[in-house]
Amino acid sequence: MSRVETKQYTESALADMVKNFLVQFKDKSGAFSYVEQIDQMMPKNSKFIIIDYNDLVLSYSEIESRFNENPDEILNAFSRAIKEILQERFPKYAEKIKDEIRARVGNYPVQRSLRQINAEIIGKMTCVSGMVVRASEVKPLAKELTYVCPDHHVTQIFLLKGMSVNVPVKCSNPKCAHRDLEMKPETSKFIDFQILRLQELPEELPPGQLPHYVDITIKQDLVDNSRPGDRIILTGIVRIEQESIVGVSRQSSGLYRLRIDGNNIEFLGGRGIKSSRRTEREEETALMSS
Ligand SMILES: [Zn+2]
Ligand SMILES: [Zn+2]
Repeated sequence: MSRVETKQYTESALADMVKNFLVQFKDKSGAFSYVEQIDQMMPKNSKFIIIDYNDLVLSYSEIESRFNENPDEILNAFSRAIKEILQERFPKYAEKIKDEIRARVGNYPVQRSLRQINAEIIGKMTCVSGMVVRASEVKPLAKELTYVCPDHHVTQIFLLKGMSVNVPVKCSNPKCAHRDLEMKPETSKFIDFQILRLQELPEELPPGQLPHYVDITIKQDLVDNSRPGDRIILTGIVRIEQESIVGVSRQSSGLYRLRIDGNNIEFLGGRGIKSSRRTEREEETALMSS
Protein backbone atom coordinates (compact mmCIF):
# COMPACT_ATOMS: atom_id res chain seq x y z
CA MET A 1 0.00 0.00 0.00
CA SER A 2 1.37 3.39 -0.91
CA ARG A 3 1.74 6.32 1.45
CA VAL A 4 -1.07 8.19 -0.28
CA GLU A 5 -3.57 5.40 0.26
CA THR A 6 -2.75 5.07 3.94
CA LYS A 7 -5.14 7.17 5.94
CA GLN A 8 -3.49 9.36 8.49
CA TYR A 9 -5.07 9.55 11.89
CA THR A 10 -4.24 11.86 14.69
CA GLU A 11 -3.59 10.25 18.03
CA SER A 12 -7.06 11.10 19.30
CA ALA A 13 -8.78 9.98 16.08
CA LEU A 14 -7.08 6.63 16.42
CA ALA A 15 -8.16 6.40 20.05
CA ASP A 16 -11.73 7.19 18.96
CA MET A 17 -11.59 4.46 16.34
CA VAL A 18 -10.40 1.79 18.76
CA LYS A 19 -12.89 3.04 21.34
CA ASN A 20 -15.72 2.61 18.84
CA PHE A 21 -14.43 -0.87 18.13
CA LEU A 22 -14.40 -1.80 21.83
CA VAL A 23 -17.87 -0.39 22.47
CA GLN A 24 -19.57 -1.60 19.30
CA PHE A 25 -18.04 -4.99 18.61
CA LYS A 26 -20.41 -7.93 19.03
CA ASP A 27 -19.18 -11.51 18.91
CA LYS A 28 -21.00 -14.37 17.15
CA SER A 29 -23.37 -14.84 20.07
CA GLY A 30 -24.28 -11.15 19.96
CA ALA A 31 -22.44 -10.25 23.14
CA PHE A 32 -20.45 -7.05 23.51
CA SER A 33 -17.39 -9.08 24.38
CA TYR A 34 -14.93 -6.21 24.90
CA VAL A 35 -17.29 -4.17 27.05
CA GLU A 36 -17.77 -7.33 29.09
CA GLN A 37 -14.02 -7.78 29.44
CA ILE A 38 -13.67 -4.18 30.60
CA ASP A 39 -16.50 -4.66 33.10
CA GLN A 40 -14.67 -7.68 34.46
CA MET A 41 -11.44 -5.77 35.08
CA MET A 42 -12.33 -4.42 38.50
CA PRO A 43 -13.91 -7.63 39.90
CA LYS A 44 -10.87 -9.58 38.67
CA ASN A 45 -8.44 -6.88 39.79
CA SER A 46 -7.02 -6.98 36.28
CA LYS A 47 -5.33 -4.24 34.29
CA PHE A 48 -5.58 -5.62 30.78
CA ILE A 49 -7.99 -7.02 28.24
CA ILE A 50 -7.26 -9.33 25.31
CA ILE A 51 -8.08 -8.14 21.80
CA ASP A 52 -8.51 -10.76 19.11
CA TYR A 53 -6.70 -9.35 16.09
CA ASN A 54 -9.26 -10.98 13.78
CA ASP A 55 -12.11 -9.06 15.42
CA LEU A 56 -10.22 -5.84 14.96
CA VAL A 57 -9.42 -6.18 11.25
CA LEU A 58 -12.92 -7.48 10.61
CA SER A 59 -14.30 -4.19 11.95
CA TYR A 60 -11.60 -1.83 10.69
CA SER A 61 -9.56 -3.37 7.88
CA GLU A 62 -7.55 -0.15 7.47
CA ILE A 63 -6.01 -0.69 10.88
CA GLU A 64 -3.96 -3.59 9.55
CA SER A 65 -1.43 -1.40 7.76
CA ARG A 66 -1.20 0.85 10.79
CA PHE A 67 -0.45 -2.15 12.94
CA ASN A 68 2.37 -3.09 10.60
CA GLU A 69 3.82 0.39 10.58
CA ASN A 70 3.49 1.47 14.15
CA PRO A 71 2.18 -1.08 16.65
CA ASP A 72 3.17 1.08 19.63
CA GLU A 73 0.78 3.77 18.45
CA ILE A 74 -2.15 1.32 18.26
CA LEU A 75 -1.37 -0.19 21.64
CA ASN A 76 -1.21 3.30 23.17
CA ALA A 77 -4.55 4.12 21.56
CA PHE A 78 -6.02 0.97 23.11
CA SER A 79 -4.68 1.82 26.56
CA ARG A 80 -6.24 5.24 26.26
CA ALA A 81 -9.59 3.96 24.96
CA ILE A 82 -9.87 1.23 27.60
CA LYS A 83 -9.08 3.81 30.26
CA GLU A 84 -11.83 6.12 28.95
CA ILE A 85 -14.44 3.36 28.90
CA LEU A 86 -13.38 2.20 32.36
CA GLN A 87 -13.57 5.78 33.66
CA GLU A 88 -17.22 5.95 32.63
CA ARG A 89 -18.05 2.71 34.40
CA PHE A 90 -15.63 2.31 37.30
CA PRO A 91 -14.08 5.76 37.81
CA LYS A 92 -12.23 4.94 41.03
CA TYR A 93 -10.66 1.78 39.68
CA ALA A 94 -9.76 3.57 36.43
CA GLU A 95 -7.97 6.27 38.39
CA LYS A 96 -6.10 3.69 40.44
CA ILE A 97 -4.73 1.73 37.47
CA LYS A 98 -4.72 4.46 34.81
CA ASP A 99 -1.01 4.23 33.96
CA GLU A 100 -0.94 0.45 33.79
CA ILE A 101 -3.91 -0.30 31.52
CA ARG A 102 -3.00 -2.24 28.42
CA ALA A 103 -4.32 -4.42 25.64
CA ARG A 104 -2.86 -7.78 24.81
CA VAL A 105 -3.19 -8.83 21.18
CA GLY A 106 -4.23 -12.41 20.47
CA ASN A 107 -4.02 -14.24 17.14
CA TYR A 108 -1.62 -11.75 15.60
CA PRO A 109 -0.99 -13.24 12.15
CA VAL A 110 2.59 -12.16 11.43
CA GLN A 111 4.72 -15.08 12.49
CA ARG A 112 8.48 -15.28 12.15
CA SER A 113 10.90 -17.99 13.08
CA LEU A 114 13.34 -17.16 15.80
CA ARG A 115 16.09 -16.90 13.16
CA GLN A 116 14.13 -14.18 11.38
CA ILE A 117 14.20 -11.87 14.38
CA ASN A 118 16.79 -9.29 13.32
CA ALA A 119 17.54 -5.59 13.15
CA GLU A 120 15.38 -5.14 10.04
CA ILE A 121 12.22 -5.47 12.06
CA ILE A 122 12.99 -3.18 14.98
CA GLY A 123 9.79 -1.52 16.14
CA LYS A 124 7.58 -4.12 14.44
CA MET A 125 5.21 -6.51 16.08
CA THR A 126 5.72 -10.18 15.46
CA CYS A 127 4.83 -13.62 16.74
CA VAL A 128 7.56 -16.10 17.40
CA SER A 129 7.22 -19.61 18.71
CA GLY A 130 9.72 -21.27 20.97
CA MET A 131 10.37 -22.99 24.23
CA VAL A 132 10.95 -21.05 27.41
CA VAL A 133 14.33 -22.21 28.68
CA ARG A 134 15.00 -19.65 31.35
CA ALA A 135 13.01 -17.21 33.45
CA SER A 136 14.74 -14.55 35.52
CA GLU A 137 13.65 -13.58 38.99
CA VAL A 138 10.85 -11.01 39.03
CA LYS A 139 12.28 -7.53 39.53
CA PRO A 140 10.68 -4.17 40.15
CA LEU A 141 11.09 -1.91 37.12
CA ALA A 142 10.89 1.82 37.84
CA LYS A 143 8.12 3.73 36.08
CA GLU A 144 8.26 6.88 38.18
CA LEU A 145 11.02 7.66 40.62
CA THR A 146 10.77 10.23 43.36
CA TYR A 147 13.94 11.88 44.66
CA VAL A 148 14.17 14.23 47.59
CA CYS A 149 16.93 16.74 48.31
CA PRO A 150 18.04 17.69 51.86
CA ASP A 151 15.59 20.65 51.68
CA HIS A 152 12.74 18.20 50.95
CA HIS A 153 12.18 19.38 47.38
CA VAL A 154 10.76 16.61 45.27
CA THR A 155 12.28 15.69 41.90
CA GLN A 156 10.37 13.22 39.74
CA ILE A 157 11.73 11.09 36.94
CA PHE A 158 9.59 9.10 34.48
CA LEU A 159 10.66 6.06 32.56
CA LEU A 160 9.34 6.66 29.08
CA LYS A 161 10.64 3.98 26.78
CA GLY A 162 13.13 1.23 27.16
CA MET A 163 14.75 0.33 30.42
CA SER A 164 17.09 3.09 31.44
CA VAL A 165 16.39 5.95 33.81
CA ASN A 166 18.38 9.16 33.79
CA VAL A 167 19.21 9.67 37.44
CA PRO A 168 18.80 13.39 38.21
CA VAL A 169 22.11 15.13 38.85
CA LYS A 170 20.56 18.13 40.57
CA CYS A 171 17.43 19.10 42.48
CA SER A 172 14.65 20.17 40.09
CA ASN A 173 13.84 23.22 42.20
CA PRO A 174 15.42 26.09 40.22
CA LYS A 175 16.47 27.92 43.39
CA CYS A 176 18.17 24.88 44.88
CA ALA A 177 21.67 23.67 44.10
CA HIS A 178 21.61 20.36 45.94
CA ARG A 179 23.09 17.41 44.14
CA ASP A 180 22.76 14.83 46.88
CA LEU A 181 19.33 13.44 46.11
CA GLU A 182 17.85 10.43 47.79
CA MET A 183 15.45 8.07 46.02
CA LYS A 184 12.21 7.40 47.92
CA PRO A 185 10.88 3.92 47.08
CA GLU A 186 7.62 4.51 49.01
CA THR A 187 6.49 7.29 46.68
CA SER A 188 8.02 5.83 43.51
CA LYS A 189 6.14 3.53 41.17
CA PHE A 190 7.39 0.15 40.06
CA ILE A 191 5.98 -2.61 37.90
CA ASP A 192 6.87 -6.30 37.85
CA PHE A 193 9.47 -7.14 35.27
CA GLN A 194 11.04 -10.38 34.13
CA ILE A 195 13.25 -11.66 31.33
CA LEU A 196 12.42 -14.92 29.58
CA ARG A 197 14.75 -16.73 27.25
CA LEU A 198 12.98 -18.27 24.28
CA GLN A 199 14.76 -21.00 22.35
CA GLU A 200 14.00 -22.49 18.95
CA LEU A 201 11.74 -25.51 19.11
CA PRO A 202 13.61 -28.75 18.36
CA GLU A 203 11.38 -29.47 15.34
CA GLU A 204 12.13 -26.03 13.85
CA LEU A 205 15.88 -26.45 14.19
CA PRO A 206 17.77 -26.88 10.91
CA PRO A 207 19.68 -30.19 10.92
CA GLY A 208 23.09 -30.02 12.56
CA GLN A 209 22.58 -26.50 13.96
CA LEU A 210 22.66 -25.27 17.51
CA PRO A 211 19.41 -23.69 18.67
CA HIS A 212 19.11 -19.91 18.57
CA TYR A 213 17.50 -17.98 21.35
CA VAL A 214 16.16 -14.52 22.01
CA ASP A 215 15.50 -12.74 25.28
CA ILE A 216 12.01 -11.45 25.94
CA THR A 217 11.15 -8.71 28.38
CA ILE A 218 7.80 -9.17 30.04
CA LYS A 219 5.99 -6.93 32.44
CA GLN A 220 2.99 -6.74 34.72
CA ASP A 221 0.37 -9.44 34.10
CA LEU A 222 2.66 -11.51 31.84
CA VAL A 223 5.18 -12.03 34.63
CA ASP A 224 5.23 -15.58 36.01
CA ASN A 225 2.81 -16.62 33.30
CA SER A 226 5.05 -19.21 31.68
CA ARG A 227 7.80 -21.42 33.02
CA PRO A 228 10.88 -23.12 31.60
CA GLY A 229 9.72 -26.04 29.46
CA ASP A 230 6.59 -24.26 28.20
CA ARG A 231 6.09 -24.10 24.45
CA ILE A 232 4.65 -20.73 23.64
CA ILE A 233 3.81 -18.28 20.89
CA LEU A 234 5.10 -14.95 22.02
CA THR A 235 3.65 -11.79 20.50
CA GLY A 236 5.71 -8.69 20.99
CA ILE A 237 7.53 -5.72 19.54
CA VAL A 238 11.16 -6.08 18.51
CA ARG A 239 13.41 -3.57 20.22
CA ILE A 240 17.10 -2.98 20.72
CA GLU A 241 18.94 -2.32 23.89
CA GLN A 242 22.40 -0.87 24.31
CA GLU A 243 24.87 -3.41 25.56
CA SER A 244 27.94 -2.67 27.60
CA ILE A 245 31.35 -3.71 26.31
CA VAL A 246 34.33 -4.18 28.60
CA GLY A 247 36.12 -0.84 28.95
CA VAL A 248 33.33 1.19 27.34
CA SER A 249 30.48 2.72 29.30
CA ARG A 250 27.00 1.52 28.46
CA GLN A 251 25.88 4.91 27.12
CA SER A 252 28.69 5.14 24.58
CA SER A 253 28.59 1.53 23.49
CA GLY A 254 27.80 0.99 19.83
CA LEU A 255 26.76 -2.56 20.44
CA TYR A 256 23.11 -3.39 20.76
CA ARG A 257 21.21 -6.53 21.49
CA LEU A 258 17.80 -7.50 20.23
CA ARG A 259 15.00 -7.92 22.68
CA ILE A 260 11.34 -8.64 22.18
CA ASP A 261 9.05 -6.54 24.31
CA GLY A 262 6.37 -9.09 25.16
CA ASN A 263 2.73 -8.16 24.61
CA ASN A 264 1.00 -11.54 24.80
CA ILE A 265 1.80 -15.18 25.46
CA GLU A 266 -0.22 -17.99 23.95
CA PHE A 267 0.45 -21.62 24.70
CA LEU A 268 1.13 -24.12 21.97
CA GLY A 269 -1.11 -27.13 22.20
CA GLY A 270 -0.37 -28.98 18.99
CA ARG A 271 2.46 -28.16 16.67
CA GLY A 272 1.94 -24.52 15.87
CA ILE A 273 -1.57 -24.89 14.49
CA LYS A 274 -3.36 -21.56 14.68
CA SER A 275 -6.48 -23.08 16.20
CA SER A 276 -4.44 -24.52 19.03
CA ARG A 277 -3.55 -21.08 20.28
CA ARG A 278 -5.19 -20.47 23.58
CA THR A 279 -5.09 -17.58 25.91
CA GLU A 280 -5.32 -18.00 29.66
CA ARG A 281 -8.82 -16.64 29.54
CA GLU A 282 -9.94 -19.42 27.24
CA GLU A 283 -8.15 -21.96 29.39
CA GLU A 284 -9.99 -20.70 32.43
CA THR A 285 -13.30 -20.97 30.61
CA ALA A 286 -12.40 -24.46 29.41
CA LEU A 287 -11.56 -25.48 32.96
CA MET A 288 -14.78 -24.06 34.32
CA SER A 289 -16.95 -25.76 31.73
CA SER A 290 -15.22 -29.14 31.95
ZN1 LIG B 1 16.22 20.99 46.53
ZN1 LIG C 1 18.50 23.21 48.70
